[in-house]
Amino acid sequence: MSSYQTINPTSNELIKTWPAHSADQVEQALSTADELYHSNWSKGPIQPRLQVLTKLAELIEGRVEDLAKAASVEMGKLIGQSRSEVQLCAQIARYYAENAERFLAPVRYPSDLGEAWVENHPIGVLVAVEPWNFPFYQLMRVLAPNLAAGNPVLLKHASNVPHCAALFEQLVSEAGAPEGVWTNLFISSDQVAELIADDRVQGAALTGSERAGSAVAEQAGKYLKKTTLELGGNDVFVVLDDCDLDKAIKAGVGARLNNCGQVCTAAKRFIVQEKVADAFFEKFIQAFREVKIGDPLDESTTLGPLSSSSARDTLVKQVNEAVSKGAKLHVGGKAVDGKGCFFEPTILSGITRDNPAWFEEFFGPVAQVYVVKDDEEVVKLANDSHYGLGGAVFTRDIERGKKLASQIETGMVYINSATDTSAELPFGGVKRSGFGRELSDLGIKEFVNQKLVVVS
Ligand code: NDP
Repeated sequence: MSSYQTINPTSNELIKTWPAHSADQVEQALSTADELYHSNWSKGPIQPRLQVLTKLAELIEGRVEDLAKAASVEMGKLIGQSRSEVQLCAQIARYYAENAERFLAPVRYPSDLGEAWVENHPIGVLVAVEPWNFPFYQLMRVLAPNLAAGNPVLLKHASNVPHCAALFEQLVSEAGAPEGVWTNLFISSDQVAELIADDRVQGAALTGSERAGSAVAEQAGKYLKKTTLELGGNDVFVVLDDCDLDKAIKAGVGARLNNCGQVCTAAKRFIVQEKVADAFFEKFIQAFREVKIGDPLDESTTLGPLSSSSARDTLVKQVNEAVSKGAKLHVGGKAVDGKGCFFEPTILSGITRDNPAWFEEFFGPVAQVYVVKDDEEVVKLANDSHYGLGGAVFTRDIERGKKLASQIETGMVYINSATDTSAELPFGGVKRSGFGRELSDLGIKEFVNQKLVVVS
């Protein structure tokens, strides 16, 4: 049976099983995409491609409610957060429609060898492997720049969000994209590996776990294909002793509980300076106690379910192990009884370096709090991580914040707000959080041939 299933995590009810694509269908999709790459669509003027992006933005804006509901039903996101995700997708489409031509314009290079410039050309068919946590936004981050650049994309979405995958494919088609621009495939990891090995595929973009990233990068390395990887994170949320504590706590609660904690750039390790630690704990715990767990379609709910029962079971195991190895549990700590995939908002402290929790990413509503003395200790603890994705620093002294930001080994640091994302800002990390950047001008340059031409 196909592993692509819509299961509502609020009730654990199986809504629909989606048929897997056959080997013939996959071959057909690849050859269509490859033909498109060799056609005037990819090699010709950019305007027709940008028109599709503009139309796509309009279509999405007209269907926010339907799309948002599909995401909430399929992976449990609060309806308000689903709407924001859908709106962000429209912004990204419009951003590339308005800026891609400028980003891809030839760049002159002064040289003694002659008149020189670099042109940006598409490289060919790409494979995208994407996760369920932002079932539309993750797709748009790959589609928009690559549609503009002229690279056709074959998508393998996560097996628990097939409805969102199908809706997105339909939107791209309705926006006027010719067949092959964006093809959704319900396929296995082995089929992804076969696609990457195929000479017609030139690159792979993946967002997901280290395990999946490593598998895709290994295969791409073997066949010498370019990859971008956006993997997990264990981001710090630094609360300095001079910060506006109420502002930090409000942002911190949102940064940990947004999307039920299932965000790569969620605040996962709260590093709090001693002077403000007691006040922080009191207010932070109180805020977690006030969370209203429930149906993500109910506007008054503030914490929905995790995306699946396996996500919930993983979190139960991680929290139990952390506590058994000496972590202090302040609030929460267990799954909510019943059929749904709910987990209580949880705060842990007292995690020592020999506790596996120190290095693990908790992909759910579980905050770890570490109390430190000075700024030096903040940096040491922040960088004692296998990951390097984002981070946040709260302080009234911006110079102090900037100094810390430059010392934290991650791809992104925000001062006085939680890590965020926007079409015009690059997104990505270092260390085991992966490599390459998505969004902004950097994102569109990942899969283009930056071709030098010299006239002597
Ligand atoms: P996965 O990495 O397993 O899933 C992400 C995508 O990768 C899915 O489409 C999945 O397909 C696919 N995939 C998995 N293994 C392979 C492979 N060997 N070859 C090709 N594709 C593969 O994430 P999970 O859903 O299991 O989540 C586990 C952890 O991953 C989380 O706890 C979190 O740490 C991290 N994660 C990070 C995300 C981020 O935004 N950076 C998003 C989601 C997860 P399928 O669904 O069919 O297995």
